[in-house]
Amino acid sequence: MTETILLDMDGVVLEGPGTPQSVYDRAADTAAAELGLEPTDRQRADLRAHGYETVESACCALGADPREFWRRKEAAASRLAADRIRSGERARYEDVAALESLAERATLALVSNNRHETVRFVADHLPVPFAAARGRDPTPEGFCRRKPDPHLLRETLDELGIEAGLYVGDRETDVLAAEEVGLEAAYLRRPHNADVPLPEDAAYEIESLGELGNVLEKR
Ligand SMILES: [Mg+2]
Repeated sequence: MTETILLDMDGVVLEGPGTPQSVYDRAADTAAAELGLEPTDRQRADLRAHGYETVESACCALGADPREFWRRKEAAASRLAADRIRSGERARYEDVAALESLAERATLALVSNNRHETVRFVADHLPVPFAAARGRDPTPEGFCRRKPDPHLLRETLDELGIEAGLYVGDRETDVLAAEEVGLEAAYLRRPHNADVPLPEDAAYEIESLGELGNVLEKR
């Protein structure tokens, strides 16, 4: 039986726990400029925020369509994220190299809370043959379906036509989402989560992607 390993992206293959706020700040400013908005400092801060309701109320005060603003902000963030990865400003972890040989014996997929466009870009950019890549849709609904919601994992399992496997993540939300869809969770230690208590339901704790070959042999 071919094994299946789904991997989170931020903090697992890309260095650092996630997209820095500065990217969303610039993305919000770009979207505001595209729509010709002239926000006050307070409104600009709200447009740069993460939660949809805050963004929505700022858009409404400015007479802008919040869904259109959201779509443009997500698109701008994806362009900026791709530039940072292309230039090497945001690097991959060195142990990603281990995935290249692992792909010969396991089906690999990327499943991330990050934007779908960015996850797709990373899957194409890395020298690893991912069978699927899934991130959040650039809509308020997509933002609500981030892990621990199991939606993204379930969709990927359906796409691959499989029901069992391993999910590798660096947060408790990854472990919770994995459990929800019947995947075993491997909790990966990185500098940013070195001191975080091991989530209760993690089936494995690993220090490097290079250990995944051993994990497959233990299962
Ligand atoms: Mg992560």
